[in-house]
Amino acid sequence: MTNKLKYFVANWKMYGHLGSLNSLGKVINFKKKNKNAKNLKIIYCPPFTLLHAFVQKFKNSNIKTGAQNCSFISSFGPPTGSINASMIKSLKCEYVILGHSEKRAKGENDKTINKKIQSALKNNLKIIFCIGETMIQKRKKVTKKILLNQLYKGLHRIKKKQNILIAYEPVWSIGSGLVPRSEDLNILISFLKTYLRNKLKFKNPKVLYGGSVSPQNILVLRKILNLDGFLVGGSSQNSKKFIDIIKKTFN
Ligand code: PEP
Repeated sequence: MTNKLKYFVANWKMYGHLGSLNSLGKVINFKKKNKNAKNLKIIYCPPFTLLHAFVQKFKNSNIKTGAQNCSFISSFGPPTGSINASMIKSLKCEYVILGHSEKRAKGENDKTINKKIQSALKNNLKIIFCIGETMIQKRKKVTKKILLNQLYKGLHRIKKKQNILIAYEPVWSIGSGLVPRSEDLNILISFLKTYLRNKLKFKNPKVLYGGSVSPQNILVLRKILNLDGFLVGGSSQNSKKFIDIIKKTFN
């Protein structure tokens, strides 16, 4: 049970057609009727193709929308297949996920992520900045070093810190059904918040957890009270499961 503001970010990854919007009515009704609504921030991040339709669907619901990536180039230009932050903002989207491990695995580095964060902030988007270690790094016990490095480099010279949510997503947890042990997660989140406060000058750092969050394991994860919410991939594509995760977090 919590009465702290909690974020629930639905990362739809590469899923969904226009028809997939039909199930969102359930989430809209749930949010409207929920007694914890004032402590509940829901953000949907569908593929680019559905962003406009999601914004329209959520128009009167106070459910927010975000993109899953953006270019580091702020102006219009030739890069075929890219979308920049101003294009996302023009749809009335408010958020963008940056630094996701699935993009890092395809070659995105800290420097590029830093440029993307700068461009997104310049265009008044809020950021969900993902960090996380691989299984090999975890086994080598270099998790903290990797995370601090990703934070330090990704947030180099970044000012509007209040517009950045950090999402700790262990790479080994994404889509695998594995989640960190609660004690480890608790310690790590406190460690990250201390670093964000003391070294990176965040006033009130918000850290979410992402990786295989499900209606089952939320009963354990919700007890980690220093978490400010969850980034949910697979389970968010099913509205019933996503609502279940939110309900169980608060009850
Ligand atoms: C993600 O890809 O951001 C994610 C959290 O995925 P999943 O919940 O499916 O592990």
